[in-house]
Amino acid sequence: MLSKKKYLEALGIIMQMYPEARGELNWETPFQLLIATILSAQATDIGVNKATPGLFAAYPDAERLALADIGAIEEKIKTIGLYHTKAKNIKAAAQMLVSDFDSILPRDKATLQKLPGVGRKTANVVLGDAFGVPGIAVDTHVDRVSKRLNIVPQKASVLDVEKTLMRYIPEEKWVSTHHHLIFFGRYHCTAKNPKCEACPVLSYCKFGQERLGVY
Ligand code: SF4
Repeated sequence: MLSKKKYLEALGIIMQMYPEARGELNWETPFQLLIATILSAQATDIGVNKATPGLFAAYPDAERLALADIGAIEEKIKTIGLYHTKAKNIKAAAQMLVSDFDSILPRDKATLQKLPGVGRKTANVVLGDAFGVPGIAVDTHVDRVSKRLNIVPQKASVLDVEKTLMRYIPEEKWVSTHHHLIFFGRYHCTAKNPKCEACPVLSYCKFGQERLGVY
């Protein structure tokens, strides 16, 4: 396993690679971020950003989405994978927000996760980006990069990855680190064909060294 000290060195290099790293979903209100994040499960941010302008123009807030016809919602998001389920979830989430929370997004993780379609990762993204609540959302990129850098066993759960990152990284950097790791995974340490030969953290990465047959 890579030590905490070595991991933080590698992370510092990764953060310098993408100083502009930030969430890439388009939204104007915390409610819209919630909806966009639910829609982004197993879909690309680019795909979600293509659909949400039309969705948010028709249903800009929880009250209007809660009253929307499910078929009409599906029509707006049909280009996004799993849109039948996601249409049901975002309508049900909007209904619960209106009925149980006065249309105001809860700011704590456990309560937010009571909304349909909202798991731990979605709650972390929304709370971090909308309200600055510290959290590390472990998506496929964060999970892959953490395992390649060998800070957790290869079979570790996403919760184990999250807990390890929270132990290693100072709390005030959790939200920004999550974005840096996503950029690094999305644009450099990609699932297929990671750019190991040009990787500034190769000397920290056993996976990359073995892949290239170096060290
Ligand atoms: Fe990813 Fe390769 Fe860099 Fe390791 S060396 S972090 S696998 S790109």
